Amino acid sequence: MKGGDGPTVLVVAGNHGDEVEGLIAAGELARELQPDEVGGQVIILPAANRPAVEAGLRTSPLDGGNLNRAFPGKPDGTPTELLAHAIEHLLLPRCDAVLDLHSGGSSLLYEPCAILGASEDPDVAARQLAAARAFGAPLILRFARLPGFERSLGGAAARRGIPNLATELGGGGGTNPERAALARAGIRRVLAHWGLLEPGGEGEPGSEVLDVGGPEAFLHAPGPGLFEPAVTLGQRVGEGEVLGWLHAPFDVDRPPRTFVANAAGRVVCLRRAARSEAGDCLLHTARQGTAVDFQAETFSL
Ligand SMILES: [Zn+2]
Repeated sequence: MKGGDGPTVLVVAGNHGDEVEGLIAAGELARELQPDEVGGQVIILPAANRPAVEAGLRTSPLDGGNLNRAFPGKPDGTPTELLAHAIEHLLLPRCDAVLDLHSGGSSLLYEPCAILGASEDPDVAARQLAAARAFGAPLILRFARLPGFERSLGGAAARRGIPNLATELGGGGGTNPERAALARAGIRRVLAHWGLLEPGGEGEPGSEVLDVGGPEAFLHAPGPGLFEPAVTLGQRVGEGEVLGWLHAPFDVDRPPRTFVANAAGRVVCLRRAARSEAGDCLLHTARQGTAVDFQAETFSL
């Protein structure tokens, strides 16, 4: 959609195929946006990894590919690698910024938030923070450089030196009116912030910025079982507080394994499904001033 000589922005939904809010809002934007509204160019991928979106899965059923781990892609690779290659080499060179709409997917629920990825360029980092504030979610999470960052869309944007604003808009395989409304309004607020749309009438709500720290912020299942949380989404926990239990219902003589918090924080992401396999993220916390580089093997963006 081109309507002027302003910046070019890429809006991506369906990077993971089971993240609902972005899919709904980006599809609506693609249908409704008119060229005379746009002071630049908006490129919308409303269902970026379409096979995954059609299947309602995080990854592509064609090749098992996770698009957000496939960059920079390959020109002669699998379908997911081809897609990543096209985005990185055909679209991103034309773009001044990226908005990458994620949610918690089928297995996780997030407090609706904007996500600041790692950036070594202070100017890009500042522009990402400004865009995150414009998005208007009540929470902004600042992630340290996570394993696999270079293979994500955020990593591809970083290679181009352009800001990438990501979101986690909820999850659990569904949505609700509040989260759907945030997605719709947030996209338009960011496009207005980047100079592509006229500013809307709504003010920008304040956003709290929290850091997602090292491995102590993440709780992963050590093996299969049923996860029973002792906390709710958004709850503040202290060090040593019980976070939940992993039950082994197939072995009634075995007591559940109890998890306690290694550090204080707020539960910003919580597993929705009880059934868990080894390595599944059960929850993670965030707090101010803890963003550090770390080398966890799994994470949930
Ligand atoms: Zn995602």
